[in-house]
Amino acid sequence: VVVEAEAPPPAAGGGSGVKISNRDRVLYPEGGITKGQLADHYEAVAEIMLPWCGSRPISLVRCPQGRAKKCFFQKHDAGSFGDAVRHVGIAEKDGHEEPYLYVDTPQGLMTCVQMGTIEFHGWGARIEDVEKADRLVFDLDPDVGLDFEAVRSAAFTFRDILKSIGLETFPMVTGGKGVHVIAPLTPRAEWPEVKDFALRLALAVAQSDPANFTAALPKVQRKGRIFVDYLRNQRGATAVMPYSVRSREGAPVAAPISWKEMETIDTPAHWHVGDAPALIERAMSKALAGWGLASQALPDL
Ligand code: ATP
Ligand code: MN
Ligand code: MN
Repeated sequence: VVVEAEAPPPAAGGGSGVKISNRDRVLYPEGGITKGQLADHYEAVAEIMLPWCGSRPISLVRCPQGRAKKCFFQKHDAGSFGDAVRHVGIAEKDGHEEPYLYVDTPQGLMTCVQMGTIEFHGWGARIEDVEKADRLVFDLDPDVGLDFEAVRSAAFTFRDILKSIGLETFPMVTGGKGVHVIAPLTPRAEWPEVKDFALRLALAVAQSDPANFTAALPKVQRKGRIFVDYLRNQRGATAVMPYSVRSREGAPVAAPISWKEMETIDTPAHWHVGDAPALIERAMSKALAGWGLASQALPDL
């Protein structure tokens, strides 16, 4: 008779208690960054990561053999992650339901890391009602060759225009090339309305400043411009979660910043996997108090 062992209780000291195998496995060949270092990052930031990432359907970028080998984007799971990684049934376009993943505890987060996850991406809705967006995100994607000054200026343009229609926003550097300008929403409007709003705003900005912005999907039209990726605002689309490590060179981390910090920061890849203590201290600081929190709904536009 095979008796399944009970899940171990959380370790003392706030640790998740999830056992990480192969801690010495190198996941980033260029810097020798290991699975153990990645796990230590997530163990440390779980508490500041879960308020935003928790209870959203998530997609994982898993790279079990490291970032230089095959990585895959995973949205569903039938149970191989165990109980700590939870499931929410979401209807696909044809009506049948698929089990999407979400986490709401450090154990859930760390189980994903144990399974080779490097990046965490989340829907713009919570599991309580996946049809209603709880955030808008303008994913500002600079064309190759544009410097960060262009991205910064674009971010402030979006801050100002959203402010002028009554939406407070919060910026996040992605750890990659760009910035996300995020407007939290009280979940009320459903995806078609939210997507339409984001599209119309992106087109309006691109039309009023075509030298610097485009909302056009073909890459040739992005030359020398910031592509306003409004498609993060449709049902099922995800955006990278705050404090997620990226599977890019040097293990940069997506990080919330303040608008004040946006004035001086000079790269979207400012923080890296070893910076958890600094990220936690920042998260508790006055500059980031209330980041991502605002009681506001999608305006009529
Ligand atoms: P950067 O600042 O370098 O643009 P980013 O995270 O914004 O970093 P994008 O390529 O703009 O990267 O992608 C935006 C979001 O779209 C990602 O964070 C991710 O959630 C989602 N995404 C990107 N590629 C895929 C993919 N292949 N499958 C599913 N979702 C994706
Ligand atoms: Mn982007
Ligand atoms: Mn994008």
